[in-house]
Amino acid sequence: MIKENYRAVKENITSACDACGRKEEDVTLIAVSKTKPLKMLMEAYEAGARDFGENKVQELEEKIPNMPTDVRWHMIGHLQRNKVKFIVGKVYLIHSVDSLRLAEEISKEAVKKGVTVKILIEVNVAEEESKFGTTTEETTALIESVSKLPGVIIEGLMTIAPFTENPEENRKYFQKLKQLSVDIKTKNIDNVNMNVLSMGMTGDYLVAVQEGATYVRVGTGIFGERDYSKDRNKGQL
Ligand SMILES: *Cc1c(COP(=O)(O)O)cnc(C)c1O
Repeated sequence: MIKENYRAVKENITSACDACGRKEEDVTLIAVSKTKPLKMLMEAYEAGARDFGENKVQELEEKIPNMPTDVRWHMIGHLQRNKVKFIVGKVYLIHSVDSLRLAEEISKEAVKKGVTVKILIEVNVAEEESKFGTTTEETTALIESVSKLPGVIIEGLMTIAPFTENPEENRKYFQKLKQLSVDIKTKNIDNVNMNVLSMGMTGDYLVAVQEGATYVRVGTGIFGERDYSKDRNKGQL
């Protein structure tokens, strides 16, 4: 089923791009494989998936050495500063930077390892209490500070929209994130690109594509529902 699901999501993205005059190669599908066993990741890989998203450092550490080396790993979950050292140099893009202290830690580790780390700033555009992310108002100031750090390059913005049955309800948040990225881009800040917008999940990725997403992060729509009832670290790899 995973191969069929992956291909179906890809086709939906292509149709959405065609319908709104975007190029399909401008939208990258991230297969969000958190909690899922390697066997399932490999099925997606065989269907063509090369970008995988995970939200836990420990799971990344377990999966990275066991998957083909051409996979690009995306850290999409909340990142604690004491875990930064485990993923710098191993992941392609960190989507979830929402504080200067976290960015400083990434910078420190990047300099130590002699690498440049690509990051996105996570914005809580919907202002949900439960979500991580900087506020829309604070985003520009945060980016100005982070942009001065060595070893870090800001590629764009990320948001997690509210869970909703009706994806249309999230359109305004995607539009808000896009507008914010346009506003920041016009400031031409050094080390800041603003070419990436990571937004849209299983329930709302087509609306996100219509509003300019360059990465969509789809888990359930590819791998099926996640089961959190068992300890995910036991016997699943
Ligand atoms: C789990 C997760 C997703 C994927 O969610 P689905 O609804 O299963 O597609 C996307 N983004 C983030 C940040 C996630 O944690």
